[in-house]
Amino acid sequence: MKLGRMAVLASSLCKTYQIGDVKVEALKDVNLKVRKSEFAVIRGPSGAGKTTLLNVISGIDKPTSGKIVVFGHDLGSKNEDFLADFRCLNVGFVFQFYNLISTLTVSENVAFPMEWTRKPENHIKQRVEELLRIVDLQHRSNHFPFQLSGGEQQRVAFARALANDPPLLLADEPTGNLDAKTSLKIVRILEKLKDDGKTIVVVTHDERIMRLADQNLYMQDGTLVSL
Ligand code: ADP
Ligand code: MG
Repeated sequence: MKLGRMAVLASSLCKTYQIGDVKVEALKDVNLKVRKSEFAVIRGPSGAGKTTLLNVISGIDKPTSGKIVVFGHDLGSKNEDFLADFRCLNVGFVFQFYNLISTLTVSENVAFPMEWTRKPENHIKQRVEELLRIVDLQHRSNHFPFQLSGGEQQRVAFARALANDPPLLLADEPTGNLDAKTSLKIVRILEKLKDDGKTIVVVTHDERIMRLADQNLYMQDGTLVSL
């Protein structure tokens, strides 16, 4: 496989958490290849290491050993400044529990990654409007996260993740805490992103999301297998 076509290349990833005398091997020799524009789905029981793997792919967390290369960048060799910029430009991350900034409005949350990358104010304003239209939340732009339902907060999280139009989207159980009707909106957003050619890695047990997958993966006890 040509390296230029590769979005994510993980080889022999291990991640061990040590708390006092207790060692938890969250990732054990994980290998993963996701091509550009591919849609990969990871499922598996709670505690399997799925969130840890997404954190390592995004550069939020460093592996204990092994190599993680995203769009040709060997993340293990980069410093925090590089990784912060890299994430902001290349990786949209939708967290399981939304992680919106509670003191900022919906618009301000969505604008945040663009402020970080110092986009011009008029661009930010237009893009926020566009993103809120995509996730169907224009009418909520001045609300604060606590004034929104879980599904609405999750849609804001998607809008924020997409702010800088990143080529890679990571989503951690994005419909896990939502009812069937609300999660359908999330499924539609993912469908559209797939059509747009984004590279997507989703941790999910949602059948409707699994149907979009080009690559199905299963994680158990820190080990990743293809299905
Ligand atoms: P999943 O997302 O599949 O439920 P996680 O990646 O969250 O699994 O966790 C994998 C394992 O690593 C679990 O046993 C969990 O308790 C442990 N773990 C995760 N994060 C930490 C941490 N920051 N410190 C210590 N142990 C952790
Ligand atoms: Mg998890």
